[in-house]
Amino acid sequence: MQKRSNTHKLIFYIPLLASIVLVTGLLFIPGVAKAGTINLHNSATYYSNTFIHPYVFAETINFNTGYVTAVNRQETADSSLSPAPVKNNNNAPEPAAKPMIEKKVLAKGTKDATELYIIKANKPGPTVMIVGGIHGNETAGYKAAEKFINYDIKRGTLLVIPRANQRAIDNKSRIIKSVGDMNRQFPTSSKSSADTHLTREIYKVVKDFKVDWLMDMHESIDYHKLNPDSVGQTIIYYPANSTRSTVSGLLNSINKTIKYSRAQFTLLRYPVKGSLARAAGQYLGVHSYIFETCSKQSLSTRIDYHVKAANLLLKSLDMN
Ligand SMILES: [Zn+2]
Repeated sequence: MQKRSNTHKLIFYIPLLASIVLVTGLLFIPGVAKAGTINLHNSATYYSNTFIHPYVFAETINFNTGYVTAVNRQETADSSLSPAPVKNNNNAPEPAAKPMIEKKVLAKGTKDATELYIIKANKPGPTVMIVGGIHGNETAGYKAAEKFINYDIKRGTLLVIPRANQRAIDNKSRIIKSVGDMNRQFPTSSKSSADTHLTREIYKVVKDFKVDWLMDMHESIDYHKLNPDSVGQTIIYYPANSTRSTVSGLLNSINKTIKYSRAQFTLLRYPVKGSLARAAGQYLGVHSYIFETCSKQSLSTRIDYHVKAANLLLKSLDMN
């Protein structure tokens, strides 16, 4: 191996040291530090008009803090170098990227206007829709749905319409008399459309986003187990594909936590014609169901059932 002379060493090290000093300086110019984290592994990267040499900074720069972390100051530009392990300032694991949340208004500009939340994870996955407040006096449904508007999902898309019938909620009534029952206004055949501007927009969301699973949160006045005319504590699903096995799983998990048999959930089928769950299940192939609590229980217990059931669904889809 040939021994380098001192002159050769100087020719080699002076430009290298100069570039380390220059690039380190550029990284601390205000404005270079940006939110987010970028990986600079073995590729020449331009960022904020700063050229960062791949071998000097073959590491992660944490722009959340604005500090360069675990900078790999290699002494040579050896192209066979593999990136050193990624480290954080405090050696904590990198935080998972947060999902994007977008808010839209359905039936915008009308007195039925209501909000739709679109939560998109960074990883692809199923699309789940949660709807509350189709009936304005079913408080637990919309209170539970509201808990999902900022929900952190790890894959797929979560759509939430927490207060579908905002006017009826404001009015503390099941329906708005002049409008009629919103849960009878969705299509009743593959060719028909929904009856009102708002229900057409809600149905369009189900179609446009190709919803895979739909949970519609409702309440009923009595326990189905004691009074078969009422649907309190039931899951009413549209029987298609594998919907039944998933909803039975949800039902069994929830029932394990319920002491009194009257309060245990029963699986029923065929959401009523004209309901959102029926139309979505029958005409759009969505796995859909209505989740009904019983208003004889405390509000917090009812909300808890809805939230638990939605969480179980998301868990079964590996979304939370
Ligand atoms: Zn209802």
